Amino acid sequence: MIKVVKFGGSSLADATQFGKVADIIHADPSRVFVVPSAPGRRYPTDTKVTDMLLKAYDLAAAGSGELDAQLDAIRERYDAIISGLSLDFSLDGEFAEIRKNLKEHPERDYAASRGEYLNGLVMAAYLGFDFIDPFDVIFFNEEGGLNAYKTEKVLSARLRETEHAVIPGFYGQGKDGKVKTFSRGGSDVTGSIVASAARADIYENWTDVSGFLITDPRIVKDPAPIHTITYRELRELSYMGASVLHEDAIFPVRSKGIPINIRNTNCPEDEGTWIVESTARKPKYTITGVAGKKGFCAVLITKAMMNSEIGFGRKVLQAFEENDISFEHMPSGIDTMTVVVHESEFLDKEQRVVSTIHRLASPDSVEIESGLALIAVVGRGMKSMCGTAARIFSALAHARINIRMIDQGSSELNIIVGVANEDFEKAIRAIYSIFVETQL
Ligand code: ASP
Repeated sequence: MIKVVKFGGSSLADATQFGKVADIIHADPSRVFVVPSAPGRRYPTDTKVTDMLLKAYDLAAAGSGELDAQLDAIRERYDAIISGLSLDFSLDGEFAEIRKNLKEHPERDYAASRGEYLNGLVMAAYLGFDFIDPFDVIFFNEEGGLNAYKTEKVLSARLRETEHAVIPGFYGQGKDGKVKTFSRGGSDVTGSIVASAARADIYENWTDVSGFLITDPRIVKDPAPIHTITYRELRELSYMGASVLHEDAIFPVRSKGIPINIRNTNCPEDEGTWIVESTARKPKYTITGVAGKKGFCAVLITKAMMNSEIGFGRKVLQAFEENDISFEHMPSGIDTMTVVVHESEFLDKEQRVVSTIHRLASPDSVEIESGLALIAVVGRGMKSMCGTAARIFSALAHARINIRMIDQGSSELNIIVGVANEDFEKAIRAIYSIFVETQL
């Protein structure tokens, strides 16, 4: 059994957190490959080391004399961890080199990546594991995406040579031979790539929450946790704003059928959430999750006999395409078609879009409704259950919420309802309550 374990910034924010991480790794001999993030926040107003490094880069690029003090502040974070763990280990040489590099030729990705690099060195020394620099084993292609083929080949060969290793998250080597990072939160992606190359049985992603919750805890107090979620359900929910994991972290493990287990470093006894390709396990409550976002607009296009006019839909969508606007949903009636878009993308261009629709599709009318919130009720369990939609609608009716739009994907994996922005929280609470609190 091989487990790849990734620890997020809050799990490595100080020496106490490092201690918890070591306990977790030592508790299970199959946890052989460790992917650390950079030290995160120790308390809510604290600054993540990655952000401190980005500031150092800005100072370096501006040739500011404050660079030295900023690097000293970063150094203090690591020194506190090293002394807190009573390690006989020094980052003198590393900091001298970083200082020199930033002064001589500041590079943004290089600066940002040093948080993970240094944390990896400390972690490897603390655990007595090998250190593998992702610069030597993770490669990007010309377009800036992952060179999956080369990475898999080099990384899996390197992992075969070692029993235990620490591989820092977040960066690798760009096509130009320089350090390149993933987008923010990218250590999740590294963990997934390492799990894939190691042919791991499980990719454990340790964070500061015990997995996913059915809905946003800022809206519903103490929502129930999700035990198992499929990749597709996760995609639907994260698209709607529920985020714990970097989007690009799914593909490498998914392609190998490796499950991801989201765990809590501060409560290692919690089982957390399993993210899997497919499962026979029925979700406990029919729905797996409910999430949503405010700030959409609906563009309602009407034309008599629309249903028999070939190419009408294409012309309407072309109007959005020509104005560089992506659409979110498109429910339609017999003589009507509604195109739902993000208000923020749409506002500046609305009159241009309307005139383009008129020019291309000659509709009878185009109306715009703003202030729409979309809520996705997601669950593989809905497929086999009658009356899910009815329960959603009656919950909303009881809460006296007007439904302004309904869209059900053909996969039966989700039902999307549109409500007014001001009804958003109330609607989520009503849906959560009918499925989870009043388990029929
Ligand atoms: N340290 C990086 C960030 O703050 C990457 C990560 O933590 O995954 O975005």
